[in-house]
Amino acid sequence: LSTDEQRVIDAIEEEGIDFLRLQFTDILGTVKNVSIPASQAEKAFSEGIYFDGSSIDGFVRIQESDMRLTPDPATFAVLPWRTREGENGGAARLICDVVDTSTGEPFEGDPRGVLKGVIDRAAEMGFEVNAAPEPEFFLFEEDEDGRATTKTNDAGGYFDLAPKDLAQDVRRDIIYGLEDMGFEIEASHHEVAEGQHEINFEYDDALTTADNVGTFRTVVRAIAAQHDLHATFMPKPIARINGSGMHVHLSLFTEDGENAFHDDDDEFNLSETAKQFTAGILEHAPAIAAVTNPTVNSYKRLVPGYEAPVYVAWSDRNRSALIRKPAARVPAASRIEARFPDPSCNPYLAFAALISAGLDGVERGLDCDDPIRENIYEFDERKREEYGISTLPSNLGEAVDEFEEDEVVQDALGDHISEKFVEAKTAEYDEYRVEVSEWELDQYLETF
Ligand code: GLN
Ligand code: MG
Ligand code: MG
Ligand code: MG
Repeated sequence: LSTDEQRVIDAIEEEGIDFLRLQFTDILGTVKNVSIPASQAEKAFSEGIYFDGSSIDGFVRIQESDMRLTPDPATFAVLPWRTREGENGGAARLICDVVDTSTGEPFEGDPRGVLKGVIDRAAEMGFEVNAAPEPEFFLFEEDEDGRATTKTNDAGGYFDLAPKDLAQDVRRDIIYGLEDMGFEIEASHHEVAEGQHEINFEYDDALTTADNVGTFRTVVRAIAAQHDLHATFMPKPIARINGSGMHVHLSLFTEDGENAFHDDDDEFNLSETAKQFTAGILEHAPAIAAVTNPTVNSYKRLVPGYEAPVYVAWSDRNRSALIRKPAARVPAASRIEARFPDPSCNPYLAFAALISAGLDGVERGLDCDDPIRENIYEFDERKREEYGISTLPSNLGEAVDEFEEDEVVQDALGDHISEKFVEAKTAEYDEYRVEVSEWELDQYLETF
C-alpha cells in the first residue's frame, strides 16, 4: 500500500470505523455508494472493488458491465452523522475512480475521470485549475408523513439575523458537519428568498472542489433531515422568487504558483489569459448550459429579474451578466465568476465543460469584448443587438440542441457520456413537454 493508503488504514483503526462507503457519481450527478466492512479496506486499495455497472443509470449495457472501484485515499472522511459517541459502528467514505475491467483503463463513463482528463489537458498547457462554488439551497418543512413541502421554514431575507432567520441552528449544525468532514467554511448567510441559504467554502483544485460539491449536498440534506427539514438544491422551487444558483469561481495558476488570471496593469486586474478564458466560456455558454443547467426546472431560474443570468456577456460589477469579475483584494484572488450554473448539475461534468470552453478560448487566443456595466435585464432587443449580446437557451430542449452542435463541449465530456447525456435529457424534456400544467388549466379551462 502507498503511504496515503496506509494512513487511511490507521485512521480506520483510530476512529473506530466499522463501515466504509465507496462512492462514485453517475452521469446525472447522483452520488452512488457501496458499503464494505472496514476489514476489507486493504483489499479495496490493492485490488479494487468489483461491481455491476449495468445497474447504474447511463453507465453501460449489461454485456459489458464489470466495473472496478479504485478508492482515492485523499478523499477519506468520517461521516459525522453516522458516528455515535461511545459506540462502534462509525462510517467513513472514500471517493473512487471507476475502472473498466475489460481494458484496465479509466472508465469513460465516469464523470470524475472525465474531469481528471480536462485537468490533465490544462496541465499540458501549463495550468492548474482552481475552483470555488457557491451552492444555494432552500430549507422546506416536511409534512406529517415526512415528505417535502414548499413551505419555507422562515421568513428571513438577505443576510438577515435571528429571530427572523430560524434556520440559524440548522445552518450551524450543517457547518459543524462540513467542518468535521474537512471543509474550510468561509461564510454562511441567509440568501435573498425566504428559506434560502448559502454556505461558502474555501477554493481548492477543481477535482477536490467537484468532490466537495457532492459531499456538500449530502451533508446539507442529512443534517437538515435531522431537524425535520428538507434541503433542496432544485434550481427554482418557487415561481417568481429568486432561485438557487451555484456560481462557480475559476482561476488558472501556473506551475510555480502564480495566478495566471492576474495582471496588475490591467484596468480589471485580469490577464490576457483570463480574458481569453472568459471569451471561451461566453462563446460556448449556450452548449455548456445543458451541462451546468441540466434540468427542465433550471430554465425557470434563468429569467430576468432574479439575479440569475440570461444574457451572454461579462461584467466587472453587474450581477445580471453571465460572467462577473469579483473584486479581489490580493493578486492570488483574481478570478472569474460564472453565474449561470445551478446546483442540480453534475459538478464534475459542469467543471469539465466550463474549463474546456475556457481553455479553448486560451488556445485560440479569443478576444474578449469590453465588460457591460449596465443592468442588462433592462436592455431591449435593439440595445442587445447593438452590443452583440446573445441569450442563453430558454429551455432544456434548446440547450440540448446547442450541446449537440458544439464539438468542444461534447469533447469535454467524451463520446460515451455525451451520447448518454443527450439521450437522458431528450427523454426528460419530451416527458415534460406532454404534461399539462396547473398554469394552463388556470388560463384556459374556463376561457375556451
Ligand atoms: N440566487 C441568485 C441566483 O440564482 C444569486 C443571488 C446572489 O448570490 N446574490 O443565481
Ligand atoms: Mg455568494
Ligand atoms: Mg448567493
Ligand atoms: Mg456569487
